[in-house]
Amino acid sequence: MVERYDVLIVGAGQGGAQAAAVLRQQEFAGTVAIVGDEPDAPYERPALSKEYLAGEKPFEKMLLRPPAFWADKKIDLRLGRRVVEVDAGAHRVRLDDGASIEWGKLVWATGGAPRRLVCSGHDLRGVHTVRSRGDVDRLRGELAATSRVVVIGGGYIGLEAAAVLSKLGKHVTVLEALDRVLARVAGEPLSRFFEAEQRAHGVDVRLGTTVACIEERAGAASGVRLASGDVLAADMVIVGIGITPAVEPLILAGATGAEGGVLVDFQGKTSLPHVYAIGDVASHENVHCRGELVRLESIQNANDQAAVVAKTIAGKTDRYEAMPTFWSNQWDLRLQTVGLSRGHDETVVRGSIEQKKFSLVYFREGKPIALDCVNAMKDYVQGKALIASGRTFDPAAVARAELKSLLG
Ligand code: FAD
Repeated sequence: MVERYDVLIVGAGQGGAQAAAVLRQQEFAGTVAIVGDEPDAPYERPALSKEYLAGEKPFEKMLLRPPAFWADKKIDLRLGRRVVEVDAGAHRVRLDDGASIEWGKLVWATGGAPRRLVCSGHDLRGVHTVRSRGDVDRLRGELAATSRVVVIGGGYIGLEAAAVLSKLGKHVTVLEALDRVLARVAGEPLSRFFEAEQRAHGVDVRLGTTVACIEERAGAASGVRLASGDVLAADMVIVGIGITPAVEPLILAGATGAEGGVLVDFQGKTSLPHVYAIGDVASHENVHCRGELVRLESIQNANDQAAVVAKTIAGKTDRYEAMPTFWSNQWDLRLQTVGLSRGHDETVVRGSIEQKKFSLVYFREGKPIALDCVNAMKDYVQGKALIASGRTFDPAAVARAELKSLLG
């Protein structure tokens, strides 16, 4: 007999866990299961490139809910199993062990797989990605025998990993193909600030640098050959070049794709009836970005989209319009971002870059649309209100005055 759940959630990560929890908060009484291909109960990923990598946080403290929560709330966790096929017409998925599960509603919350290098040596021992607990456990298992690390990719995950590994006494080089780190997500002043901080902590940051291949010795990575022909010796290579959203079974089932993920509306509905998608996979029109299609990779987005979908399934009315937020930690630097800077036409800096307490404010047509706040919690809180007001402000005043005072 084929099993059936009223709601089947695929992906036991941030969004999947939150969707199930909110369903029960909403007193949804139907049967609920989460299928996840990792062996662990849902856990928070941000610590993977921060405290967990540093050995400062035990895995148990990263669990999103206490172990007893799932049984208490009658949420079945089907771990270590991967959904390989979706039949949207028959309301059925097939798992990698051949079993089938039927569903009333399907919530697709599968996140993404780290993009890998395509050059020779990409799969050698010593070449790592940082997406799952398994990835980081493997990496940490090799740390004692590692002195030189090359991080490929100057995004947040690459920079966070570089910060932790330099703190652990490793010699770290960061390779970035573009002419500044964080180029895809931040304005130039923030990129230059983090570049300088990395260098001040002894990290060798190389911009405009592309990789030709990974060099091998005795079956393991021994270095990174650059397009210039130079070779950087390395016992470990960390690849942080983004993710590919894990949407293939859903797209093959007929869901409309967008931005590399799957298209959803303001309730998280895909183009397939009774099928929802949330988190890193969900391309959506974002009201904080002039309704442009975006796919956000953040805890806020996964949690808030999950809540909207769970409420919708529970028969409530909701719409995904949450203000985007994100954070990143490197050494004593706490970055908090709010809003979306895409399409900005002006920036100003508030506070002091030298004192490592400042905010970069992004404007579009005179309206503040995003802030990147470094060690500036107050700006982050008040900046949110500034963006939410939807008003225009004089950038010079925003650079100087207390933000609260501008709101009147
Ligand atoms: P995930 O949490 O990735 O969960 C998806 C789950 O589905 C995974 O377990 C995956 O293995 C599983 N899965 C995939 N395909 C299948 C399948 N076919 N069948 C079954 N299971 C499947 N965000 C922030 O806001 N701040 C941060 O500081 C921050 N730091 C981060 C650091 C790291 C190292 C990483 C990797 C991410 C970080 N993020 C951060 C991003 C944030 O963790 C993600 O945006 C968030 O986890 C997305 O949630 P999700 O539910 O979409 O996907």
